Amino acid sequence: MSGGVAYAFNGQHFAAPAELDITAAANTLTAPLSVIVQVTKRCDFDCTFCSETLQLPDPTLDQLDTIRQNLTGTGRVFLSGGEPLMRKDFGEVVDIFHGHHIVAVPTNATHAADHARNIAGKIAYANVGLEGPRAAFRRVRGDYDRTMTGVRVLQEAGIPLALSAVVYRSTLSVLPYTVQIGDVLDATKVKLILPLRKGNALNLADHEFITTGEADAVFARLRDLRTQMQWSPALRLTAWTPQNEGHMIVVEPNGVARAWPVYDAPDLWEPLGNALEEPIADIWARYRFKENHVSKYVGRSIHALAQGV
Ligand code: SF4
Repeated sequence: MSGGVAYAFNGQHFAAPAELDITAAANTLTAPLSVIVQVTKRCDFDCTFCSETLQLPDPTLDQLDTIRQNLTGTGRVFLSGGEPLMRKDFGEVVDIFHGHHIVAVPTNATHAADHARNIAGKIAYANVGLEGPRAAFRRVRGDYDRTMTGVRVLQEAGIPLALSAVVYRSTLSVLPYTVQIGDVLDATKVKLILPLRKGNALNLADHEFITTGEADAVFARLRDLRTQMQWSPALRLTAWTPQNEGHMIVVEPNGVARAWPVYDAPDLWEPLGNALEEPIADIWARYRFKENHVSKYVGRSIHALAQGV
């Protein structure tokens, strides 16, 4: 890739030399390192932190093909939702993007059995949301057993697995179990993310939001435990700071591209353009969070430990 950034580890993260000048890299790039494309807003879960508030019709395969063409130059595409595997034609969706981008799929895995065989070998990995053991998962997210059944189906199909967990104050005590589960499942990474105040998360009690200082302490504790227990997955923790504001580019089902999360914008979205109507280079040119984008994806603005380190 240009800008001194390369994909590493089967597209699961980015590698950059320690001396990488983030500003120069951001100015060199003509397209994002990574884009999230929402192939549906539908979902069979109703997670207590879910930020999805607006239902929109699913994009057609033709529309997704147009979006794919307009995303030329973007290295990695997350085919996201909602719950992307709820699309009966999800295999065809993957076929549109496979071969043009590194493809990754965030999923709750409940519909894994419908698609795992079709998409194996075409996606770099599935990222399954998993907030720790059954009791915590049920309280925060939904049906643990359906998700774990789906995880096994994904793994039997040979699809690499990563986990992500939203961190509440009331789930801090289960985080070591979450990482242990990741280790037992041979997950390549466990991503921890603080919730954002949007959608269902607006109903969370204030005390569930930990501070960035507390997040630093949580990561330090997990780093020590990880060494002690010899856990293998890479470990990442994203707290919301000015340095990673707006770092994601999300394309909604109607093609609208937005920077996310923008802390003082309505619904935390900042409109950037429309990926059904214009090339990503035009959208990238008017994107004001380029440095945050690069900084986050090379692991500078979050806590990050590589696998096995
Ligand atoms: S967070 Fe994801 S899995 Fe949970 S309800 Fe929202 S879209 Fe569905």
